[in-house]
Amino acid sequence: MTVTTDTADTGDTPAVAHFRFFTFDVLRTRRIGHSFLRVTFGGESLREFRSGGYDQSLSLFLPLPHQEHTVLLSTDEDTWFGAWREMPEEERPVMRSYTVREQRRTAEGADEVDIDFVLHGDASPASHWAGRARAGSRIMAIGPAVAENKSVRFQPDPAADTLFMYADETALPAAAAILERLPAGQKVKAWFQVPHADDRIALETPADADVAWVLPSESGAGRADTVLAALRADAPERASEGAYAWIAGEAGTVRAVRRHFVQERGIDRRAVRFTGYWRLGASEEQLLLEAYTGKAPSEDPDSAL
Ligand SMILES: Cc1cc2nc3c(=O)[nH]c(=O)nc-3n(C[C@H](O)[C@H](O)[C@H](O)COP(=O)(O)OP(=O)(O)OC[C@H]3O[C@@H](n4cnc5c(N)ncnc54)[C@H](O)[C@@H]3O)c2cc1C
Repeated sequence: MTVTTDTADTGDTPAVAHFRFFTFDVLRTRRIGHSFLRVTFGGESLREFRSGGYDQSLSLFLPLPHQEHTVLLSTDEDTWFGAWREMPEEERPVMRSYTVREQRRTAEGADEVDIDFVLHGDASPASHWAGRARAGSRIMAIGPAVAENKSVRFQPDPAADTLFMYADETALPAAAAILERLPAGQKVKAWFQVPHADDRIALETPADADVAWVLPSESGAGRADTVLAALRADAPERASEGAYAWIAGEAGTVRAVRRHFVQERGIDRRAVRFTGYWRLGASEEQLLLEAYTGKAPSEDPDSAL
């Protein structure tokens, strides 16, 4: 997500910061699929948290394996980034992008946020942290203080007649949250690519959704080739003029799916919202570094493309 703090001028009232730091306390964890762990966070600070829903993302700051909680030297909007970058590597919390799967207020008036983590191996800091998260663990996040914010990327034209979706496992929480909020009867064609058959989680939607699950190919084909075969097996018909597409997942696969939607289905490229959530072989630090040194062209600042 954006690491600068945007402000909104609301007229008579003082400008409101769109993003700010929050303290997230782990309340509980639950396995919701072969690869997915849902971590539910709470804490007083969430009273001011305002998810815009859909694919709302946020930045988490996670402690290193030898640390109990996240330690940041500054949460001031003007100085935190410099202070964080200057921390010695062995103390600096890792910053990672995730999706707000759900925000709710309980019957008792407590605020809770769910984040669904893909567990993809202990060598990766965020996956490692999630696998060991326990009630009482405390992390920090930069998240939305205003529901209308730039980290909600799903912005279809309200007149869009068909919605095309592609998500891999990392974008499935976002896709699930989008599906839940669509208007009744909205026509959707979706392909969700997951590493394991038990990752085909139950999805709820009032939309008229046709969802195809794409599992790893038995022939050992890569992600992009596997999903392209599934897309083409669906006898590509040309999309209507009012189609909108939302694509998120591994960067190389996202590019391949985008090309397919535009070139083979005829979706207007301006109506395709695509975001690389991660890139095979690159950690999020490497992607951040590329974004800051201008070495990787990307559609938006936190894109892995
Ligand atoms: C806007 C946005 C929203 C996101 N929302 C979610 C979400 O809700 N849930 C979620 O799980 N992820 C989400 N991601 C993706 C997540 O940020 C990345 O997967 C991130 O790399 C995980 O950090 P890590 O420390 O585990 O791995 P890193 O240290 O960043 O990467 C280490 C290695 O693991 C590889 N890798 C990264 N992710 C995966 C994976 N899933 N499977 C296999 N290999 C991988 C990398 O290519 C690299 O080689 C989102 C990303 C973005 C940009």
